[in-house]
Amino acid sequence: MKELIIEMENYAKEKNVPIIEKESIAFIMKYIKNNNIKNILEIGSAIGYSAILMASSNAETKVTTIERDNERYMECLKNVKKAGLEKKITVVFQDALEVNLSDVKYDMIFIDAAKGQYTKFFEKFQYFLAPDGVIITDNLNFHGYVGKKDEIESKNLRGLVDKIEKYIEFLKENEEFETEFLKLGDGISISKRRG
Ligand code: SAH
Ligand code: MG
Repeated sequence: MKELIIEMENYAKEKNVPIIEKESIAFIMKYIKNNNIKNILEIGSAIGYSAILMASSNAETKVTTIERDNERYMECLKNVKKAGLEKKITVVFQDALEVNLSDVKYDMIFIDAAKGQYTKFFEKFQYFLAPDGVIITDNLNFHGYVGKKDEIESKNLRGLVDKIEKYIEFLKENEEFETEFLKLGDGISISKRRG
C-alpha cells in the first residue's frame, strides 16, 4: 500500500496531475476517523490518490468518485485494483455536472475538480449531503494566486482565480451552510449546515 502511494505520487509529479497535498489529506483522513464518516462522494478522482487514502481511513468507509477524463479514469481504476479496494471505491466516468445520483445521502462530499465550477458543484451536490454531513473543498488558495489577481498576466488564469474568489464569497454568504477556511496545504474549506 505504501509503495503504491509513493508510486502514485511519482506518477502525479511526472505527468503533472494535481493530487492533494499531504497536509490536507492527513487532515481529511483524521476527520473521517474521528467523525466515523462512512459514505463519501468525491468530485474529481484524477488517478485515485485521495480516493484510495480516504477509503483506507476507516474500515467502513466507502467512496464514490467521479472523473471525466478517460486517461485518468483508467489510471484510477488500475490503482484502485492494485490497492485491493474495488469493494470500497466506485469510480464513475462522467462529467460530475451530468451525473444522475440515486437517492443516496453522503456523510462527506469532497469537491476537487474544475476550479471554475466550484459553485455549480456545491449547488448541485448539497442535496446529496446527509443532514449532519460535511462538504470539503480543496485548492481555495489556488497555488497562492487567490487574493493576488492583479499580479496575474494570463487572462484564463485570472478568470479562474476570479471564480474561486466568487466561490469563497458564496460560501461566506451562504445562509444554510457555515464554512470554516483552513490554511492547510493549498487551502481547504469545511462546510456544515447551520445548527
Ligand atoms: N482528488 C484528486 C485530484 C483531482 S484533480 C486527488 O487529490 O488525488 C481534478 C480532477 O477533476 C481532474 O482529473 C479533472 O479531469 C477532473 N474534473 C474536472 N472537472 C470535472 C467535472 N466537471 N466532472 C468530473 N471530473 C472533473
Ligand atoms: Mg486538489
